[in-house]
Amino acid sequence: MLDVRKIRLILELRELGINDSKVLSAIEKIPREKFVPINFKNQAYDNIALPIAENQTISQPFVVAKMTQLLDINKTHKVLEIGTGSGYQTSILSLLCRRVYSIERIKSLLTEAENIFLDLKLTNIVTKYADGNLGWKEQIPFDRIIFTAATSNIPDIFFKHIDNDGIIVCPVVNQNKQSLVKYKKIDNKITKDVYDDVVFVPNLKGVQ
Ligand code: SAH
Repeated sequence: MLDVRKIRLILELRELGINDSKVLSAIEKIPREKFVPINFKNQAYDNIALPIAENQTISQPFVVAKMTQLLDINKTHKVLEIGTGSGYQTSILSLLCRRVYSIERIKSLLTEAENIFLDLKLTNIVTKYADGNLGWKEQIPFDRIIFTAATSNIPDIFFKHIDNDGIIVCPVVNQNKQSLVKYKKIDNKITKDVYDDVVFVPNLKGVQ
């Protein structure tokens, strides 16, 4: 259903520089209201982060759109996501790539997200309950990797787990600030570009 609030959100994202029509169309198609707690459903199409269970958050639509746009995804890509959370970002990715491999360290969140993927018939998402910082060795290499929790140092293994032209997008912690960073492997060297300041929950070790 394309209601007024959804149209308003898409226009706002355009004004904020989201110009990739495939990304905007994925945002239009995935019902964000399914991923937010019942008492926040009326704010599902506001351009704000919202609380979910276990003191975690569903990211702001602009940040989801921006990270997805930076990933420059196509239908042939295998994408790894660290931090399934509500599953909203995962679902957006699933419409744009071949397969999403998503890792979450909180079991209850992962189960809830998996139920929504079933409900929405998103069949190209594979999930894993684990500490995402350990990677997903059986599935390497990936074309794209996205971290959706604030990370101080991306473990070196991830730069080995992408091929040439591979991209990693991550909210990186630097002193007291977090910024979106895009890394790209070109001729086996890593380039780094820094984008918007953001606020993400922290990347934590182990599982819960
Ligand atoms: N993209 C998500 C954002 C979720 S918040 C969404 O749209 O809802 C970030 C998530 O990362 C949380 O669910 C948190 O539990 C998870 N997380 C944090 N550190 C992690 C780690 N090391 N491995 C896997 N998941 C992690």
